[in-house]
Amino acid sequence: MSDLYELLDIPRDAGEDEVKRAYRRKAREHHPDAGGDEEAFKAVTHAYQVLSDPSKRARYDRFGDDGTTNGRAGGDPFGFGGAGFGGIDDVIDAFFGQSAGFRGGGGRRARREQPGRDVLVVVELTLEEVVTGVSREVEVDVPRACDTCEGSGSAGGGGPSTCGTCGGAGQVQRVVRTAFGQLATAAPCGACQGTGRTVTDPCRDCGGEGRRPTTRTLRVDVPAGLEDGDRIPVRGEGEAGRNGAPAGDLYVQVRVAAHELFERDGRDLAAEVSVPVTQAALGGTLTVPTVDGEEVEVPVPAGTQPGDVLTVRRAGLPVRGGGRRGDLHLIVRVEVPIGLDTEQRRLLEQFAEARGEDLSSRSGGRFSRLRDAFQR
Ligand SMILES: [Zn+2]
Ligand SMILES: [Zn+2]
Repeated sequence: MSDLYELLDIPRDAGEDEVKRAYRRKAREHHPDAGGDEEAFKAVTHAYQVLSDPSKRARYDRFGDDGTTNGRAGGDPFGFGGAGFGGIDDVIDAFFGQSAGFRGGGGRRARREQPGRDVLVVVELTLEEVVTGVSREVEVDVPRACDTCEGSGSAGGGGPSTCGTCGGAGQVQRVVRTAFGQLATAAPCGACQGTGRTVTDPCRDCGGEGRRPTTRTLRVDVPAGLEDGDRIPVRGEGEAGRNGAPAGDLYVQVRVAAHELFERDGRDLAAEVSVPVTQAALGGTLTVPTVDGEEVEVPVPAGTQPGDVLTVRRAGLPVRGGGRRGDLHLIVRVEVPIGLDTEQRRLLEQFAEARGEDLSSRSGGRFSRLRDAFQR
């Protein structure tokens, strides 16, 4: 029975991060995809599962491993001993690229199937379309299964056969010289690109790949209430997979165009509205357009001040999946009249007089605290 801490090469008081880092390093080292020993890989994975879980780790510290899963010590397939493995990661990275070095369980099968990649397209919506939802055509330009050979890649329709170079394994053993000496490692087979299968009589239209660049127009239903950046998944409409693997998904990402009147804040809308000074003082009714293309009447209370907010309930946006609509907030701007004619001027002077406001006084401007203005 080997010690789990020794397996991961960490001290008994190692923190969570240290356990994770050690596992990543060890898993790469022993990963079967990288030519590692499968038993050793299972052993370090087991060590990680125990030591990364606080309650399991506590039990292990007290009672030891129950030993039901496995207890074999690290396989050390490269013969380097337990320490000083830093260079291996680099070698593996250089060979397979960062992502291929470690991909969790089941790597062999996943590599061979090569599912198609996901694809993202962006649609721009107006705010009005956010309210109603909309059906849109999008153009998608990705490889899809070749019609001529029905995705098999083979002209005769026989389908691909086992690769002669790697015998269908999808990888070949290579010996690499490193600073540590010779290192036996596995690399994807060049003859079949790691798929393990080759086409003997390639289809003329797709060159044996089984896929062709295809431009398609798809209709996508965009529901109401989406926000900028939201994505609608369309399963199976991404790139075709290789060798019969499933296609990737299409994601339609929403971009909401700026509106000339309304600002959006979640499901609420805000707009600035001009109110004549007389209406602000006396009160009245405003007629304003809504995002639905309708008009609503909004009462303006007497004594309305600049910056006051008039709220129209449920004239905002719907939320995705339904529910109560947001509100429309109208921020009041009070219009001071300009270009007065003689009569208007006389009336305002009378008004000032009735209010006891001395227009000629140079001390007429009463200071108020600036803070009050900012707090509005
Ligand atoms: Zn074809
Ligand atoms: Zn091959």
